[in-house]
Amino acid sequence: TTASANNFLHAIIDEDLASGKHQEVVTRFPPEPNGFLHIGHAHSICVNFGLAMKYQGRCNLRFDDTNPEKESQEFIDAIQEDVKWLGFDWAGDVRYSSDYFDTLYDYAIYLIKAGNAYVCDLNAEQAKEYRGNLKQPGKNSPYRERSVEENLALFEKMRDGGFEEGACALRAKIDMSSPNMNMRDPIIYRIRKVPHHQTGDKWCIYPIYDFTHGQSDALEGITHSICTLEFEGHRPLYEWFIENLPVPSQPKQYEFSRLNINYTVTSKRKLKSLVDEGVVEGWDDPRMPTISGMRRRGYSAQALRNFSEMVGVNRAGGIVDMGMLEHAIRTDLNDNAPRAMCVMNAVKLSITNFDQAKAMDGVEMMTQPCHPNKPEMGERQLPFTETLYIDRADFTEDTTLSRKKFKRLVFGEYVRLRGGYVIKAEEVVKDEQGTITEIKASLVPGTVGETPPEGVKPRGVIHWVSATLAQKATVRIYERLFDHEAPDFGGRDYMAHLTDNSLHALEGCWVEPSLANTTPEQSFQFEREGYFVADRYEYGEGRLVFNKTISLVESKSK
Ligand code: ATP
Ligand code: MG
Ligand code: MG
Repeated sequence: TTASANNFLHAIIDEDLASGKHQEVVTRFPPEPNGFLHIGHAHSICVNFGLAMKYQGRCNLRFDDTNPEKESQEFIDAIQEDVKWLGFDWAGDVRYSSDYFDTLYDYAIYLIKAGNAYVCDLNAEQAKEYRGNLKQPGKNSPYRERSVEENLALFEKMRDGGFEEGACALRAKIDMSSPNMNMRDPIIYRIRKVPHHQTGDKWCIYPIYDFTHGQSDALEGITHSICTLEFEGHRPLYEWFIENLPVPSQPKQYEFSRLNINYTVTSKRKLKSLVDEGVVEGWDDPRMPTISGMRRRGYSAQALRNFSEMVGVNRAGGIVDMGMLEHAIRTDLNDNAPRAMCVMNAVKLSITNFDQAKAMDGVEMMTQPCHPNKPEMGERQLPFTETLYIDRADFTEDTTLSRKKFKRLVFGEYVRLRGGYVIKAEEVVKDEQGTITEIKASLVPGTVGETPPEGVKPRGVIHWVSATLAQKATVRIYERLFDHEAPDFGGRDYMAHLTDNSLHALEGCWVEPSLANTTPEQSFQFEREGYFVADRYEYGEGRLVFNKTISLVESKSK
């Protein structure tokens, strides 16, 4: 295996394997089921599952479920779906930290017996005072020297529901003057009289994250426990537990930079507030940076995996430009999305010299490749009829516009219909308000797939559909949810930086007939318009709904 420059973990793992420290790489992805996963989690999934794949090891999916009041089955289900959709499969069954509650309880007893943990009755306020701060060492709790017997009895009473919430807690006995605040006798068990989605009413005490994570890693035989940099200061505690408990293996924690992207927020809590306040229609709203939102928006799993690879794994931090994500999405769609035509703001265009003799039942079929440079994707049929729709923006009566500036249809001039004839606009019909209701044009015979004759100089190529056979569609266009580059940076109020009207639904669009028979989640390039996807839920028979994924080219930054 070769180490790659943009992932510092490769060199570490290469060495661990070369030295014989590990025979196999075992990683885990450990989400807390308290919300839907976002782009940052997608990166973490790609990193953890990606390492297991690269080194032919294993990656577990473990729900880190130690805060039952915020967690739910809905989130557990959604997370599993997201991981699978991203293209990964976990080793064996799904795991839960709560699977280890019995063992963790035994570990707590082990610490007590070794004189390494005690039940402390300080209330939250007192405990805070005793902890000290970065400049000041803490003070030992007055309960720190309780005997093993007393601690065992009190801890049992905690477990049996004999105390109110907050009355006491089990703390590891480490060092109240450690410069690392995490080592100042951290709480390892607290009383929470709430049922748990996995263990029901069995427990009224729950282990805290730090006491759970490393031991769960050890119990699962995780070799490399990869997390984000905010846990760096927790590593000494992670190691302290591993050293002081009879765990079956010796995992190591490694930290890398969280993925942050501009113009968005990546925090389940903040994303939840957007859902709860009705800013978006749900966790999987196509504007959301959630995995399910991006999926619905038309981002492919492959594109997200490519993006994660581009971001890499480092400890340098920084904010990734949204343009990088968009580049990954666009490149993937350009390669893989079949082409189609959709007229979003239609005006009728009638062909004055439509050749009925060339047509069957009024239709002359044009054949177009589904993809310009992938013949293996096949061809599609475009019905050309006497009346068509083109986009209003593709026609002007202003004959003074230069050829360079307006490469579309101008009154009295030629344009090519994509995959069809060259036509010339000859007459315009308007209603009483002066709005154009119809353009009459003549076609130049023999120009389908052929260079036009001398003197016929089309300004450009425009898209079109048959007015009689096109299907009506709704196209939803999205803008960024936030209009600020760093909507939540430094505690900024992200709710105050929401873009007004980030969703535009265009009801009267017309798509080529084949788009009535595609499947939800199929992506297309609507020629000249951008990339679009058939909505995962709302596209169906009799209702054609497409979401705009991304523009064809990078838009100039505002
Ligand atoms: P949030 O604040 O959004 O809830 P979290 O870190 O609390 O994020 P967890 O469910 O605990 O969410 O995360 C599961 C895994 O995903 C952890 O290993 C965490 O480090 C990782 N992760 C979360 N956010 C990011 C991110 N922005 N970039 C990279 N990894 C992330
Ligand atoms: Mg977390
Ligand atoms: Mg969190």
